[in-house]
Amino acid sequence: MEYLIIAIALVVVIAIVGGAVLLRPPRRRAGRAGPAAPPAPPPPAPPAPGEAGTATAADTAQAPPGVPPLLPGPAPVAEAPPPLAGRMARLRGRLARSQSGFGSVLLGLLSRDGLDDQSWEEIEDTLIGADIGVAPSRQLVGELRTQVRVQGARGDAVRALLRADLIQAIGADQDRNLRIGPHGDRPAVVLIVGVNGTGKTSACGKLARALIGEGQSVLLGAADTFRAAAVDQLETWGQRVGARVVRSDREGADPASVAFETVQEGISERTDTVIVDTAGRLHTKTGLMDELGKIKRVIEKRATVDEVLLVLDATTGQNGLRQARVFAEAVDITGIILTKLDGTAKGGIVIAVQRELGVPVKLVGLGEGPDDLAPFDPATFVDAILGD
Ligand code: GDP
Repeated sequence: MEYLIIAIALVVVIAIVGGAVLLRPPRRRAGRAGPAAPPAPPPPAPPAPGEAGTATAADTAQAPPGVPPLLPGPAPVAEAPPPLAGRMARLRGRLARSQSGFGSVLLGLLSRDGLDDQSWEEIEDTLIGADIGVAPSRQLVGELRTQVRVQGARGDAVRALLRADLIQAIGADQDRNLRIGPHGDRPAVVLIVGVNGTGKTSACGKLARALIGEGQSVLLGAADTFRAAAVDQLETWGQRVGARVVRSDREGADPASVAFETVQEGISERTDTVIVDTAGRLHTKTGLMDELGKIKRVIEKRATVDEVLLVLDATTGQNGLRQARVFAEAVDITGIILTKLDGTAKGGIVIAVQRELGVPVKLVGLGEGPDDLAPFDPATFVDAILGD
């Protein structure tokens, strides 16, 4: 009988302790490495699909169909990432292919005694072959040729002139900072756009990890709803980097609804930055414009879209540039993430894409690892190309 009473008492104690653990109050703010917040209160008034363009729809509609309650929190991040600042210098070894590419060819040509017309033509062809583009290559050669002649430069002096001209062509004084400071009670919002396969989803994950490493809270939105694999991939990145992902359980759900939901939850959780991954289907230009335009409009009912970052694969050259142009026509791009710079010996695409789109390269991808995303620094890049 005594044993029975003790056993019952034990069961009661375990039940009370277990219940207390399960019923802990929800955390309001996503921690930098801890588990994410449990389900937030039901979001007010997300836009109904097809009606997101009107304020009344956004203010009165029910939760968007297909967006499930919050998922279980991500796994904690094992190690803090290195700071964003200075990453490019640390990863410059990844530009090894560039070092053996056009930089060394250029230096070889420029070290010839008595640079004649033929040499300058070869220099121009080398620049064009490195994806710099015809007009910028001509301009660069024109300036360099004049400087070399006027100064009678040779050897290291020619190299220094080339270095300075390349840095100038890339734009040393452009503002490449990410505008992601918080706005009072609203999160900063970053839209990531670009063709599928360029590295969009990875860029979302890597950027989230870097920001979390700098002490920010980040919420990811899986608005690339047309590819179930992309949503799962973002989820995996979220778990890997310690950022929660807002997603729809329905393939093909309205991307604008998911984007809206993410921002809404970002506001209620007081998240610092919301990063929204978008679909990169190059269907029709009008379709793309409609989709990206709607996502942006719908988000702007609740917060400001601070950055629209276009992801471009550096290995795709002129073809990638053409596709990038279509995106730039569909939505106002504020910066470029140039990925796979570790996989090309060309690299001149940095100059071409900035000229083409009129916005700076802000980040570069230098590998597949979670910390292989770096703020772009022109001088470090040129020094790596010239094998300094
Ligand atoms: P998405 O379809 O645009 O979302 O592209 P993903 O993020 O799925 O990336 C496509 C592939 O490119 C994946 O295998 C990535 O690991 C790879 N990738 C992304 N960024 C880089 C990079 O900077 N360097 C290299 N080498 N691979 C990258």
